[in-house]
Amino acid sequence: MKTLKLLLPLILMSILSASAQKQSILRHQPGVIGDKGVRNEIYIPKVMGYNVYKADLHTHTIYSDGDITPALRVNEAWCDGLDIIAITDHMEYRRVEREIFQYMKDYIDPAYRGKGAVNTNVLNRDPDSNGILVDFNVASTAAEKEAKRLGIMAIKGVEITRGKLGDYNALFTTDNNALYDPNLEQTIRNARAQGAFIIHNHPQYSKNTESTLPPHCEDFYAKGLIDGIELANGFNHYDRLFDYCFKGKYTPFATSDAHFLISARFPNAGKEYYRNMTLILAKDRTEKAVKEALRAGRTIAYSANMLIGTEKLLLELFDACVEVEKVGTDWKKLGVVIRNKSSLPFAVSKDGKNEYIVPAHGTAMVYVGRNDKVLNLTITNMLYGVNKSPKVSFKL
Ligand SMILES: [Zn+2]
Repeated sequence: MKTLKLLLPLILMSILSASAQKQSILRHQPGVIGDKGVRNEIYIPKVMGYNVYKADLHTHTIYSDGDITPALRVNEAWCDGLDIIAITDHMEYRRVEREIFQYMKDYIDPAYRGKGAVNTNVLNRDPDSNGILVDFNVASTAAEKEAKRLGIMAIKGVEITRGKLGDYNALFTTDNNALYDPNLEQTIRNARAQGAFIIHNHPQYSKNTESTLPPHCEDFYAKGLIDGIELANGFNHYDRLFDYCFKGKYTPFATSDAHFLISARFPNAGKEYYRNMTLILAKDRTEKAVKEALRAGRTIAYSANMLIGTEKLLLELFDACVEVEKVGTDWKKLGVVIRNKSSLPFAVSKDGKNEYIVPAHGTAMVYVGRNDKVLNLTITNMLYGVNKSPKVSFKL
């Protein structure tokens, strides 16, 4: 009896602590989005034997003119089903820095106090030889740390921002602090010397630009300083550059260029469409393989359910995602199902007429004549040039 008296509180305590443990698992835990959120998985099967990674390679944080931290930007990417993210803060436009200076005023060398930050606003002032004095690797390092925790990849990068001379993303930089030069071309060359991949961002940024590219840009392209072109930035699609991109064998990209929350930039992301992504066809998710894929041009730009890429890659993607099968016939028509195993929706038109939506993970039924031997489809949400959609034929 004495032993039972001793044991009872122990038994009770162990029951109580077990239920407390259970409660702590179920209880809402404070933390960033990735800690308590759900990842929206985007499934795309292998294409040509390559994994298809979903990437956003142009985003901003408080370390330039964004409103959120690198950790939160990476968590958003995780929740949105992305595999790869790059924080590409503006090297020469750092809006938040003034506030940080004020906040840290007692830590800052009096020599700099009152002068404002150095080369923080090239939109109002030409860049000068003072360079940048901040540690411009901080955001990338924070992003890399958070990405590692969540099991996705963060690529080190920066946006070289020169106002009317254009903006350029440098990806896979090794030291962002060693890039700056008052001369834009030299800055791009400094990035390339680090092995960086250079993307011409929002190439039709200036609405007054009559020609396809401003003259100095053509010079950069001619000198081989540009590797890829942003064909979609947010909901802006730069169709004047589509043909230029594919003819010149530049790698196409679609990016968010998010400064504030992704949910504000893409209000229906995850419902009607996904946030902008660049689909990267790579052997694996290592820096070496991803870099190789970008250099080989194996990307497809995804924006608002439009897929923009070379005709070959678009057809390979469609082929990997979709299968076509004959089903029943009646006295005059033959039913054909188009089955989509991916998370990407497709729009197809039959013989250039009626459009059918083949939903993500869904099936569409189309009808052809009872004696038709072939089904011709145009994939209308894919583009390999202006008004150029790939066509496929299926033997019935
Ligand atoms: Zn940007």
